[in-house]
Amino acid sequence: MASTESETRTFLASFTGRAMKPGHPDYDRSRAVWNGVFDRKPAVIAACTTASEVADAIAFGRRSGLEIAVRGGGHNYAGHAVCDGGLMIHLGGMNGVEVDSDRRRAVCGGGATWADVDAATQQHGLATPGGFISHTGIAGLTLGGGVGWLTKLAGLSCDNLISAEVVTADSRIVRASREENPDLFWALRGGGGNYGVVTSFEFALHPVGPLVNLGLFFFGLDRGTDALRFARDYVDRLPPYASSFLGVALSAPPAPFVPPEHQGRTGHALVVASFRSPEEHARVVAPIREAVPPLFELVTPIPFVALQQMFNDSATWGTLAYEKALYLDELSDGVIEVIGEHAPKKVSPLSFCPTFSLDGAYLNVSDGDSAFGGTRVKSFVFNIGAHAPTPELYQADREWVRTFWSAMRPHARGSGCYVNFLVDSDEDRVKAAYGAEKYARLARIKATWDPENTFHRNVNIQPA
Ligand SMILES: Cc1cc2nc3c(=O)[nH]c(=O)nc-3n(C[C@H](O)[C@H](O)[C@H](O)COP(=O)(O)OP(=O)(O)OC[C@H]3O[C@@H](n4cnc5c(N)ncnc54)[C@H](O)[C@@H]3O)c2cc1C
Repeated sequence: MASTESETRTFLASFTGRAMKPGHPDYDRSRAVWNGVFDRKPAVIAACTTASEVADAIAFGRRSGLEIAVRGGGHNYAGHAVCDGGLMIHLGGMNGVEVDSDRRRAVCGGGATWADVDAATQQHGLATPGGFISHTGIAGLTLGGGVGWLTKLAGLSCDNLISAEVVTADSRIVRASREENPDLFWALRGGGGNYGVVTSFEFALHPVGPLVNLGLFFFGLDRGTDALRFARDYVDRLPPYASSFLGVALSAPPAPFVPPEHQGRTGHALVVASFRSPEEHARVVAPIREAVPPLFELVTPIPFVALQQMFNDSATWGTLAYEKALYLDELSDGVIEVIGEHAPKKVSPLSFCPTFSLDGAYLNVSDGDSAFGGTRVKSFVFNIGAHAPTPELYQADREWVRTFWSAMRPHARGSGCYVNFLVDSDEDRVKAAYGAEKYARLARIKATWDPENTFHRNVNIQPA
């Protein structure tokens, strides 16, 4: 085998994408990932704009023995998208979105963000389920599942995947759908970045917006128990066209709608988005303020794209972050008690617990339909997130996350965790996330498509 250096020279001379080594003016910007904890320096960054460039980059990485990291949106908490001394395949330039409004389909590049997808699809009054923060990449989020505002109406992001173009570990460019390579298609919908580099995603679209309705109600910790007890029954009774999100232990932002005396105060936010008229929305949210008086509220029509960006400032690029998550069947009295004890103890204003409801259309898909690790029962994803601007606050809240999570464990459903929120992903945790049967099937499919585990910087499935 030629030396890595001579392989690298040959690659740099022939690569039709943009290859960067340390010292290149765009190197530092390109190697940065969302989680500021990770400051890794790849030997080469291959910024690709076509599937064949991705194929060339993978072939180079394998020939030269360089570890390969794949960066979609770069948002992963565990920083999987960048490696020290290896090859980073950077897909940020592959962010085009083509919408076919008649067929209600969008074909999106493997490096697109949800902001790219929302901007293009909303021009046609259409949307597909994405995440709650629009600078997140569509790739990592969809490949692990994908929970967002539209999950109740239309399922997970991966439930809406119609087909994908994939560059495999042996640099073939293949398609995966229910008809073509169905085993690969099954594995891509939940199995993460284990099976190849996805260069385009075709999604089903649904009529949404452009205006939708927001109701945000913020409760102080002194009324926290009452608010959460009310929320658990209220969320259960919401009509099918309204979905909810709980921001537990959230600090009130310095936003114009927040009275100055409450800015920075820790509390819980119950947020409802509904997709019919403002009058229907008013009726949907009315019981909230009657049950527990909020410190402040914001009830307004809002463009769908703005709803998707509402939490962007709570998770800016470069934040120092750590998190641990679990599934909860319900917000039981025990769960609410644990929240009551731990919510006041966070120190960074950016730390909080995004709590996602899994219900509605999420339940219409069978467990076996895709590789998604969660069970299709009504439940919550409870994510305890340390988000900090300084190392001191980060250290303190990383401990807060661990202690809070340990206290919540006895109330969790099983030992599984949503893979997109799995930071400490040793093999036992990965197996627990999928369950033994699904993991075994994923491992067999991995042995077919990536037998040498080329794509291992992820929530890793070992080839069977
Ligand atoms: C602030 C924040 C908010 C979040 N909100 C939500 C939310 O609302 N809902 C939700 O479901 N999740 C959410 N997540 C989790 C999110 O789904 C994961 O972090 C996801 O990995 C991000 O995808 P990415 O493409 O941006 O990440 P990257 O860091 O680029 O990649 C993550 C993983 O996917 C692989 N990968 C990336 N691109 C490709 C590709 N094109 N082909 C194959 N493999 C690829 C990488 O190798 C890596 O293993 C959030 C995360 C953060 C940090």
